[in-house]
Amino acid sequence: MKLVEFESKDLFASKGLPVPPRGGILRDLKQLPSALKRAKAPWVIKAQVLAGGRGKAGGVKLAKNPKQAREAAKAILGMTLVTPQTGENGLKVREISVEHAARIEREMYLSVVLDRKAASPVVIASAEGGMEIERLAHERPEAIIKQAVDPNLGLRDFEARRIAFALGLPPESVGEFVKIAKGLVRVFLDYDCSLVEVNPLALTPKGLVCLDGKVITDDNALFRQPVLRALPDRESSPLEKEAKKHDISYIGLDGSIGCMVNGAGLAMGTMDTIALAGGMPANFLDVGGGANEERVTQAFQIILKDPKVKAVLVNIFGGIVKCDMIAAGILAALKKVKLKVPLVVRLQGTNVEKGRELLNNSGVKIITADHLWEAAQKAVDAARGSR
Ligand code: GDP
Ligand code: MG
Repeated sequence: MKLVEFESKDLFASKGLPVPPRGGILRDLKQLPSALKRAKAPWVIKAQVLAGGRGKAGGVKLAKNPKQAREAAKAILGMTLVTPQTGENGLKVREISVEHAARIEREMYLSVVLDRKAASPVVIASAEGGMEIERLAHERPEAIIKQAVDPNLGLRDFEARRIAFALGLPPESVGEFVKIAKGLVRVFLDYDCSLVEVNPLALTPKGLVCLDGKVITDDNALFRQPVLRALPDRESSPLEKEAKKHDISYIGLDGSIGCMVNGAGLAMGTMDTIALAGGMPANFLDVGGGANEERVTQAFQIILKDPKVKAVLVNIFGGIVKCDMIAAGILAALKKVKLKVPLVVRLQGTNVEKGRELLNNSGVKIITADHLWEAAQKAVDAARGSR
């Protein structure tokens, strides 16, 4: 699960880390005057979207007076922000934050990530904040400071001090930094994160402040994270949310061929085969090993709700899942939604004969295929034809 900046900073604040005073999180310009009252001028107005690089793309603006703040908020709210992290279509800004702007003396980078090789969290820091850490790692790896963390102990004081010295912090800021680095590791461990990032961690005349925040948490641990569960799902599209409700792994993509497959590996293979045949999948969908007729029906309905879908390819290898049950699911779904695009079905495995019989006797127009390559080619042709 990915958190936006203000949610990340709320987690930081819950562990005692210094964050800027907040005027408010707004979805409407009408809320601006009260937000400006709650935090003192000057302000910084920021787009709250799930992507970094907002500053350079015009999603972060400073304002000295209410007039400038209004202009900034008006410009950012509703804009489509395109940064190297959003993809070329960008993200529409529906929420902005208003904070008291800090006076920055120095920008640093501080994060905690999981180091899979070392099987432990690692703190990463750099005196060169504000810039992309990936670029820095590539161009000047010596500018990056790393400190492994024992997950049972958290970051220890001497380890945090080592980072502070390597960052070249003034002596009066070292104690404060130790608290921040330890707190950040607590956020990482206590909320089951895979990434916690502060970029920049700013040195200001009033001390250190976490000016930006990014948090990614492990979905598999959500069951024990009530605070995170209470946050809205900002990543999923409406169709993805619906799929989640029915326990279907569905990810929307840009292509035109809707796919229904059982098993994640077969689903990936099916998507590749479609691409090889000259088409593009409209989605990843794994109905799962425990799929029943109802779930197949729901999965099929979800695929057909996507207006990009110009043909549907069902590729089922019946092992645990039986082909006749899949066929029944498809037919049940077709009673509820009208099929307006060609349907290609490839069934193999357990009860395949029964499954094919059901489909053949249904009166529904179905293009059948015995092999995946054949099915993919037929689906690509069908998608072209129905355009
Ligand atoms: P990002 O571009 O998405 O990473 O957004 P950030 O929150 O990191 O903001 C981008 C840049 O805007 C920062 O690196 C700072 O240089 C600047 N900035 C952000 N907040 C403040 C602030 O409170 N005061 C000042 N002076 N600059 C800020
Ligand atoms: Mg940043």
